[in-house]
Amino acid sequence: MPKCAPWLLVARASARAWPAAHENPAVACLPSAAPATGETAPRFAADAMLARLARWLRLLGWDTTLDAALHDGKLVRQAEQEDRVLLTRDRHLLRELRPHRALRIEHDDPLQQLAQVVRQLALAPPAELFTRCTVCNTALSAPLPPQARAALLPADVRELPGPARHCPGCGRLYWRGSHARRMRAALERALPGWLRREP
Ligand SMILES: [Zn+2]
Repeated sequence: MPKCAPWLLVARASARAWPAAHENPAVACLPSAAPATGETAPRFAADAMLARLARWLRLLGWDTTLDAALHDGKLVRQAEQEDRVLLTRDRHLLRELRPHRALRIEHDDPLQQLAQVVRQLALAPPAELFTRCTVCNTALSAPLPPQARAALLPADVRELPGPARHCPGCGRLYWRGSHARRMRAALERALPGWLRREP
């Protein structure tokens, strides 16, 4: 289990086994899950200090870039070019570079940071969680059909209720396991009454 993906039960097959699954025709042509995208969906650019917040935002379906290698000027330019709300804890950056659309994040805790973003931008909850890869920010596939599910998922989770999805960007698989339930419970504690019921 990669250290960078602690939120959700994310499976990544071994380096040797994975390419075959990744190129599996069963998943290669699945349509996107179409998470929160389009004219009105918010898009974010997070600074390097906000990696965990970025993952929570992606889990909620919002397109959130994070590139720790970008210097401040490039981060601001890229956010503006791509019409993203810049999320930062850096007062100096805000004072010196004056980004067009930015939110200064006040908290240390990632879930409190998320609650701040949701409240200050008055964001509506997504119809469904886990439609975007928390690791690489790619929109996940539509739910895997039974054949692909049987071929790709570990035997002990194939029968779990809820959709399983594939990330066409990095190849990870997502399903509604115990990690996903814990993540949902954490969101419900951070944002009481905000989430929609699970489909
Ligand atoms: Zn991915």
